[in-house]
Amino acid sequence: MISPPKRHFDDRDGMIWYDGQLVPWRTCTLHVLSHGLHYASCVFEGERVYNGHVFKLHEHTERLIASAAALNFTIPFTTEQIKAATLSLLIANSVQEGYIRPVAWRGSEMMGIAAKGTNVHLAIAVWDDWVSYFNPESRSRGLRLTVSSWRRPHPETAPTHAKAAGLYMICTLSKHQAEQAGYDDALMLDWRGQIAEATGANIFVVFQDTLHTPAPDCILNGITRQTVISLARQRGITVIERTIHLEELAHASEVFLTGTAAEVAPVRQIGPYSFTAGAITNELIADYDTVVSHDTETRR
Ligand code: PMP
Repeated sequence: MISPPKRHFDDRDGMIWYDGQLVPWRTCTLHVLSHGLHYASCVFEGERVYNGHVFKLHEHTERLIASAAALNFTIPFTTEQIKAATLSLLIANSVQEGYIRPVAWRGSEMMGIAAKGTNVHLAIAVWDDWVSYFNPESRSRGLRLTVSSWRRPHPETAPTHAKAAGLYMICTLSKHQAEQAGYDDALMLDWRGQIAEATGANIFVVFQDTLHTPAPDCILNGITRQTVISLARQRGITVIERTIHLEELAHASEVFLTGTAAEVAPVRQIGPYSFTAGAITNELIADYDTVVSHDTETRR
């Protein structure tokens, strides 16, 4: 049976929260001369709804505001207003399980590098026809990653701690490189040549029953990354945030990625190195599943 074509993201039913109003999905547009589009003055978030609750809504909302501040603009809504808007949107669209995309950008009042006179906009969309971030078959077998030719920039080259649209240019290029070569994703090294992160997820490596992950000095300090570090420590697993060199992967037993969309995803290959998901990966997959659906403390 031929499945129906997927609806494009501008052609869906439902409402989008846009600058304080609920707007019908298809009419939620912006002007082509928006600063955010031309100069990447745009920040965003990716959040997940599990069983009607947004996992770490507070943390994601604070990161959105901090990302905007890193790009020198202020979102004209408070954390509490954005959280309330998100929850009202879930109700308006009757979403129980899904993905949320808040996005903030500079508008079209000025065209040029200088942007101080622009208004800042905020939109929030939610959709529930959520498809797994990685192909479910690849995910259950373990992901295969190539090493990208693009490197994460030095923190003095770009605001690397922000979830800013401009930083995703090299992620898209890396992901395309990987998919063209038949891989699921790309591992990006940083400007020093050390292991950094995947194109939309952080990375963890198991060496002799201890968990290692790059220190977040030029990568996104993922909210899932922080959650998994605390889950591992609760299990008594030693977690070490440090510099990791690619060649060290020859001695790694397990590798996994973490991210809001990726969740905890086992990796079976990175370039010439192979791994098998073992006890630590499987325990953390289970712990993460539990925490996203049952942890009342995170239901804010
Ligand atoms: N690194 C990058 C480049 C990402 O896009 C993401 C996804 N937001 C992550 C890491 C993981 O971040 P989080 O766990 O907050 O989703």
